[in-house]
Amino acid sequence: MDTIVGIDLGTTNSAVSIIENDKPILIPNALGEVLTPSVVGIDLHNKLIVGRAAREFQVVHPERCASVFKRRMGSDWKATLGDRTFTPEELSGMILKSLKDDAEVYLGHSVNRAVITVPAYFNEHQRKATMHAGQIAGFRVDRIFNEPTAAALAYGKVDSHTERTLLVFDLGGGTFDVSVVEIMEGAIEVKSSAGEGFLGGEDFTRALVAKVLDGQGMHFEKAELKMPLLVSRLMNQCEDAKRLLSKEESATVRMPKPDGTFADDSPTITIARSEFHHWMDHVLARVEPPVRRALGDAGLKRTQIDEVILVGGATRMPSVVQRVTEIFDKPPLNNLNPDEVVALGAGIQAGLIARNASLEDLVVTDVAPFTLGIETCKRFGMNHRDGYYMPIINRNTTIPTSRVERVGTLYANQREILLKVFQGEGRRVEDNILLGELAVKDIPIGPAGQEVDVRFTYDLNGVLEVEATVVATRKKVSRIVTKLAKGLTPEQIQEAVASMQLLKLHPREDGKNQFLLRRAERLYAELPPHERLMLTDILDAFERALEAGDRESIDGMGSALAEFLDQFDPGLNPGDRGTSDDDW
Ligand code: AMP
Repeated sequence: MDTIVGIDLGTTNSAVSIIENDKPILIPNALGEVLTPSVVGIDLHNKLIVGRAAREFQVVHPERCASVFKRRMGSDWKATLGDRTFTPEELSGMILKSLKDDAEVYLGHSVNRAVITVPAYFNEHQRKATMHAGQIAGFRVDRIFNEPTAAALAYGKVDSHTERTLLVFDLGGGTFDVSVVEIMEGAIEVKSSAGEGFLGGEDFTRALVAKVLDGQGMHFEKAELKMPLLVSRLMNQCEDAKRLLSKEESATVRMPKPDGTFADDSPTITIARSEFHHWMDHVLARVEPPVRRALGDAGLKRTQIDEVILVGGATRMPSVVQRVTEIFDKPPLNNLNPDEVVALGAGIQAGLIARNASLEDLVVTDVAPFTLGIETCKRFGMNHRDGYYMPIINRNTTIPTSRVERVGTLYANQREILLKVFQGEGRRVEDNILLGELAVKDIPIGPAGQEVDVRFTYDLNGVLEVEATVVATRKKVSRIVTKLAKGLTPEQIQEAVASMQLLKLHPREDGKNQFLLRRAERLYAELPPHERLMLTDILDAFERALEAGDRESIDGMGSALAEFLDQFDPGLNPGDRGTSDDDW
């Protein structure tokens, strides 16, 4: 039986899961951690670095690293790292490839199939891009699976005895998703999904950076342009401070110099938790409209939700828990780790597809998270006005689904209709996203009103097929609309696979050492002169050992360096950043 892995390709962190002894487990990476930061870098030797080492490297060399690229999936955006340019699909492909390697090392055989999760609110372009990223990494992608559904699946497996309605509140690094889910004996059904593509933990960090800069008389956007090193280091500190404020009453950040280093008199700014909460109020307020929309679409009131489950690292903020408690009048569940629950659910879904015997009794149904339709004209007296939207599949319809609408020619002897396919909720098409076009030709000559049936079929991966049939002749044309969507062609995917193989990599067993080096380099700039000298001595010796390739001295100097870093950089212990089962 082929192993299928479940992957949470997160904005901030990613994780890979499989079913082992009838339960989903997370597979550790080369550092022994189950969360791999979704950061990619090209180091000064033009070698690829991924994960924690890349996140450390990014603080010192933001121009050679990319992160938060999940937000760019399906767009034309490109990142230039060193002298190379990468698409979001390629960057995500590198993360997926690194998880694939981890799974192969763990399992001891090759792994070629995957279920990859996406926010429910991802549109067609973004889903297709995610599928391409999987292919670039060398996977056959069995399913693109919605993150909240995965989370519900993980909770559903934990305790599926009682019938209940859940609301999944997923506030990740860059996206916010809400889903209403019904759990019954042996079945999980998503009733509705809503979300906001640009809201997540990152926005809280950025809002904090903006406040800190503001207090120093600086403007965020201007500082970002003129002093990127200052902003990148401050961002790193604010990220730590934000996390610390989830468990402490106050946190401090140091204001770097424009070149990103610190002077002895660099000001230290203390942030109180209450102050932080107050500052974040405007960001937090943005969670409510999607919650209302999801409830409205499911035809439920807040009080009819039995349990709220929290997903995504940003739900660790006490202010988020408090807001959720206020909205639903009850505290949310948190017995599964919010960083891991999506990957675990993806692992279960992968097991279901692979027909893992222990999972066979579970049925999962999902919904189309947005409305799909075509452009239509309206008649105003003698005139036609175009630009109106005719929904064919309404949002939150259970998928897979297939729906037909009949349209007609507008004029006598009109031989062709150009169907423009859109996704979105706007009354006019200009407010929606154009997915593609389909030309229906050879319509018989005749008066206006020659009929064409337009069928939309939406499958489990969220891929839309449009088929048009000329009623009089039964002639059909059809098209997988996502193929029309912006995205990579099969040739471009092959090119990306080939160019990824050309990238030089650090050997896997070198992962820990690379991470130590990057972390030490980042800390170097933050230390006062005396400690800096101490670090230089250990770092030099470590680098010499690495160059000589002498295992014994690499291990010895590596431990000495790790000890030094833990002493002077305690905030960066695995438990505090990235990994999960700390004191939450
Ligand atoms: P995800 O995409 O689910 O990995 O979410 C990661 C986001 O959660 C990032 O924006 C983190 O800053 C945020 N996050 C993780 N842990 C904490 C914490 N303890 N307190 C506040 N935010 C956190």
